[in-house]
Amino acid sequence: MRELGLHLRVETNLVDLVKKAKNLEVDFFQCFLTQKTEGRLLSLDSCDIEDFVKLRRELFKDLFLHISYWVNLSSVKHNEHRLLSKELALVKKLEFTHIVLHPGSAKGEKRVPKGVDALASMVNSIVKSEPEFTIVIENVAQKYPCIGGDISHFRLLLDKLDNSDRVKFCIDTAHAFSYGYDLADFKKQDEFVDFIDSQVGWHKVCLIHLNDNIGACCSHIDTHSALGEGKIGIEALKRFAQQDKLKNIPMLLEPPMMSDDQLRRELDLVKSWIK
Ligand SMILES: [Zn+2]
Repeated sequence: MRELGLHLRVETNLVDLVKKAKNLEVDFFQCFLTQKTEGRLLSLDSCDIEDFVKLRRELFKDLFLHISYWVNLSSVKHNEHRLLSKELALVKKLEFTHIVLHPGSAKGEKRVPKGVDALASMVNSIVKSEPEFTIVIENVAQKYPCIGGDISHFRLLLDKLDNSDRVKFCIDTAHAFSYGYDLADFKKQDEFVDFIDSQVGWHKVCLIHLNDNIGACCSHIDTHSALGEGKIGIEALKRFAQQDKLKNIPMLLEPPMMSDDQLRRELDLVKSWIK
């Protein structure tokens, strides 16, 4: 059975987050451990951590931690990654199995392969120093100097990794569309699916972020909407979710703020497509 997950926001504490995921009957979830506006990590004491771990072991196998946007992995300048090390320490304590990363920007470097080098060296060092979890690199809506809008950057990256087994990819439909892959057009959607296959292979993709986008194709605007209320549209999203090459890949929704009832409706809709 294909797994369906949800991105959840920490509203009170991490235990409530796991309980919410259980109530919504998702197979797994993803969350941030930082406040979006400030880039500050949640403060957790040892009891919070212990309670969370107990419950997550009981209820979930795979959990995805989305690393904060404040970490730029593709920086070609001197860059301290204190926040990243702190986040990674928490990932281990909380027993997340996967970390999801946006590749970041190689601002100041005009040559794409050199920009990808900066990302590769960061990813190589995380893989080397952190043996526990899988690193999942997500495509983005922005163009170069951001890495990972153009899917061919992932091909370049794979060739530069010391140990590519531990590195997988996440394909976000809203990001792909807004970057310029027109998933709303069925023929172009099929071409996109084949393009991923030719660049990295779908076996390297371990997560789909199924989102609609308020921004138009090529707008580079990344504002998620409820499914069907954006520019990709319900038929195109359903078709993407049902693409044969993706059929065993877990799928996760990252909707805008909505009530639990609305979340349930979104989940039920996608379940009716993929389960
Ligand atoms: Zn995403």
